[in-house]
Amino acid sequence: MKEIAEELIQADVGKVLVNEPLANHTTWRIGGPADLLIQPKDKASIIAAVQIVNRHGLPWSVIGRGSNLLVRDGGIRGVVFKVTEGLSHCEFKGEEVRVGAGYSMVRLTVETGKMGLTGLEFAGGIPGTVGGAVYMNAGAHGSDLSRILKEAEVLFEDGETKVLTNEEMEFSYRTSLLQAKKGVVLEAVFQLRTGDRKKIAATLASNKNRRRQTQPLTMPCAGSVFRNPPGDHAGRLIEAAGLKGFSYGRAQISEIHANFIVNRGGALATDVLTLMEHVRQTIKERDGIDLHPEVLVVGEG
Ligand code: FAD
Repeated sequence: MKEIAEELIQADVGKVLVNEPLANHTTWRIGGPADLLIQPKDKASIIAAVQIVNRHGLPWSVIGRGSNLLVRDGGIRGVVFKVTEGLSHCEFKGEEVRVGAGYSMVRLTVETGKMGLTGLEFAGGIPGTVGGAVYMNAGAHGSDLSRILKEAEVLFEDGETKVLTNEEMEFSYRTSLLQAKKGVVLEAVFQLRTGDRKKIAATLASNKNRRRQTQPLTMPCAGSVFRNPPGDHAGRLIEAAGLKGFSYGRAQISEIHANFIVNRGGALATDVLTLMEHVRQTIKERDGIDLHPEVLVVGEG
């Protein structure tokens, strides 16, 4: 692994970290080490790095801000690409914005609002990157990314880069083509509309306020743990089952929002997984509903 790290450093692909704890790179502050963590410094460097890693036959995966990830305690073998600051350009052209995959969604909502462009207000409190949001078809307040994404540039596993249209991204509730076909989002183009700056700012502020009141934002967490089942809300079901505040190890079902699990300091992935299984079984027995995780569980146990 050290030799491959050396080769990547020589190729000047960006920051290369060996045996890096992923707890440092997830909003849950949980996760064992990645054999190698690479923070590409730009688009060309991730393309070059994927070529090198493929040549060595190493497995690789990608993360953004780690705000929807539960990394198991054994960590992730092979290479993890962290796509953040290195790919964070943002260019406006009329009602379109072309933005790097590492750009912050929260910042994008602020910048588009300042430009008087409407369409992204729903994403105001989604704390990940553009790439992570495209992969997840992130959404809130009755909207999601699929409503405004025009196209996305993706680097596929075989090293080929392709621009995919909205249709080709096969978006559905919290999912996209990339959950079936591995690739790295490099850039996205959003189609917005001209709106009223004051109205946009007011919607962003009101959405932010609502989140502050209803989500445990001062604790390490990863947003909604379970997907909403059709016609209902996972949070409502978990609260009705009396599970708010229930804890295992250092992980706890939030007192503020029942579909959030918070890390009370030093929680392990196994603590969270045990809680998730308890919730799943309780809701299955009580309501006959199968809850499916929205957070992505990755790595080795
Ligand atoms: P990560 O968590 O790092 O990764 C998530 C997935 O995306 C992984 O499979 C990863 O491989 C993939 N990925 C990341 N970057 C790329 C890339 N460049 N190319 C290809 N794949 C990539 N989500 C919502 O949808 N709505 C909400 O309202 C919401 N609220 C939240 C509130 C809080 C407090 C928190 C902590 C999370 C919330 N989330 C919400 C979850 C999360 O922020 C989103 O899913 C977000 O889009 C994930 O982006 P990320 O950059 O953190 O991705």
